[in-house]
Amino acid sequence: MAPADIVRPTHVEVNLSCLERNFTAIRQHVGSAKVMPVLKANAYGHGLVEVARLMVGLGADYLGAAFLEEGLLLRQAGITAPVLVLGSLAGEQIPRFIQNDLTLTASSIDKLQLIDEAAAALNLRAKVHLKVDTGMERVGIHHYSAPKLLEASLLCRHLEVEGIYSHFANADAADLSHARLQLERFLDVLAFYERHSLPAPMRHIANSAGVLQLPESHLDLVRPGIMLYGVYPSSECQRTVKVEPALQWKSQVCYFKVVQPGSPVSYGSTWQSDHPVRIVTVPVGYGDGYFRALSNQAQVLIRGQRYPIVGRVCMDQFMVNIEWDSAYNGDVVTLLGRDGNETITADDLARWAGTIPYEVLTNINTRVPRVYMRDQ
Ligand SMILES: *Cc1c(COP(=O)(O)O)cnc(C)c1O
Repeated sequence: MAPADIVRPTHVEVNLSCLERNFTAIRQHVGSAKVMPVLKANAYGHGLVEVARLMVGLGADYLGAAFLEEGLLLRQAGITAPVLVLGSLAGEQIPRFIQNDLTLTASSIDKLQLIDEAAAALNLRAKVHLKVDTGMERVGIHHYSAPKLLEASLLCRHLEVEGIYSHFANADAADLSHARLQLERFLDVLAFYERHSLPAPMRHIANSAGVLQLPESHLDLVRPGIMLYGVYPSSECQRTVKVEPALQWKSQVCYFKVVQPGSPVSYGSTWQSDHPVRIVTVPVGYGDGYFRALSNQAQVLIRGQRYPIVGRVCMDQFMVNIEWDSAYNGDVVTLLGRDGNETITADDLARWAGTIPYEVLTNINTRVPRVYMRDQ
């Protein structure tokens, strides 16, 4: 969609050149390991299909999704690259995976056998990655029970075990002892293949934090999500790869008024001034994914200056105090991104809203049109 086609004065701008540089920097950093860009949750708000097309064009080896539905959207868009669905699956979904050549995660012996049976019934071969839980306690067979899953997989006739993986719980921390323990447990599980003189399938465990902080975790493939979008997993995490934010969120001033002292602004009357101020209204709200928790907390950029949000964020609008500065209807309001020398980052918004940058990005909902551009 070209900017001119967009009626709503609010949009998210995604710079594909940034995404490209981030991907290239990750690929260089991990050397011979393959790279699976993680595209779940609408590619962390950046647009599933557009980011997938870009990544495939850049030679991404594999794409990562969370749910079957995301994999199906990729296939419907004509993307034929391998797609691993990382989330857990419901038994009745299995045929859809296999018919659409989506790689399944087998996280238990039960699931593995269901997959094998479904593939047999369809007379197709399913592609599977085994999932081992090494210390996250979410999905996956416990590392101490994993040999049973690996043995069972050797008996399946209708599937190819193409990979085996685990997931870090806190590889973004300064203290990497738990992450190191997880990696050690994973390598112990993998020794099964050596003991049986079998080639190991593709081994992977590194998320963005693993890519950044634990080079020994890169193994055969890495699964970067947040860093691909130019945001670091946490403030403690070492920034060993330089990446830049690809997404900006912009709107426009849609109303201007002078508000007198003693006249509270917005629902709940949570803010008022003790002197006359100029207040502008911005047509974005929590119904777009701009958190209500940002009420009286966040700042925006107008004409290269920072200004505070005053009063509560509404579903579709919020108000900004520009004191006695000038702003006009149609002026650009930057909620996330850069204007002149000032920048608001996903980390800033996360801090103001009491959350993490992952949630800031994935929360920008589909009511906000995405616009794609490159460096000028
Ligand atoms: C989301 C996810 C990732 C990517 O995590 P980031 O912290 O965004 O890099 C990798 N692997 C799995 C299994 C995931 O669910």
